[in-house]
Amino acid sequence: SERLKGKVAVVSAAAQGIGRATALRFAEEGCKVFAIDLNYEKLSELSTVQGITIRKVDVLNKEDIQNLLAEVDVIDILFNCVGYVHQGTILDCDEAVWDKSFDLNVKGAFLMNQAFLPKMIERKRGSIVNMASVVSSIMGAKARFAYGASKGAVIAMTKSLSVDYVECGIRVNSVCPGTVETPSWHDRVNEHQDPVQARVDFIKRQKMGRLGTSEEIANLVLFLASDESSYTTGQNFIADGGMSM
Ligand code: NAD
Repeated sequence: SERLKGKVAVVSAAAQGIGRATALRFAEEGCKVFAIDLNYEKLSELSTVQGITIRKVDVLNKEDIQNLLAEVDVIDILFNCVGYVHQGTILDCDEAVWDKSFDLNVKGAFLMNQAFLPKMIERKRGSIVNMASVVSSIMGAKARFAYGASKGAVIAMTKSLSVDYVECGIRVNSVCPGTVETPSWHDRVNEHQDPVQARVDFIKRQKMGRLGTSEEIANLVLFLASDESSYTTGQNFIADGGMSM
């Protein structure tokens, strides 16, 4: 244990789902974690966890990011986990939906990476993990038009960053979950006319016959964040219950 002993991490979307599970997993492994989210009330549930500092940060708000930056002296690990799933085809996608998808899935990670990279360059070390999805450049899924397009951009951004900063000792990788049971996944199920059928259909996409857990994704992020993956950069890692096999 203590696989992240002495390290400092920033984890976004940490109030619930995969981000929260990852913040907890990092803390368990001896990491000092800045857990950030828009939803401060939900985030507060982590306030008593040893090793975790909570901060209300909107990853699209530059002032919020600057305030966080001023507080985080050194950073070893940045996990950009914020994302938004629009359920719909191109014909369901107006410009507002397109912009929201690219803002939350791509621009948030762009702003956070841009803000924190100089601190990593200074110390010639760092591991960045960007949250993509198997529904991206890996595979198409029904009614995931803006989502898939924007998550594909996350994979491309990851590769681009990895090439530019490999000589600075910074590793950049992305992760692609399949369907993971999180609060927003439950919301997506309930958006359907027949939620019972929607649940069955979601599980059917997973060849393992079950949904993934946030902890299963957190374990992959932990590996990429830690020195165990020290020879790995510019890669995309899939944990999808066989969805894309
Ligand atoms: P979630 O969607 O349930 O929660 C997201 C969290 O992000 C919330 O706490 C929300 O308050 C926060 N957030 C939203 N906008 C924010 C902003 N501007 N600044 C800061 N925080 C903000 O969590 P999840 O389902 O675990 O998804 C996390 C990531 O994993 C997303 O990028 C998602 O696309 C990706 N992902 C999820 C699944 C899945 O099946 N759940 C599959 C593949 C990829």
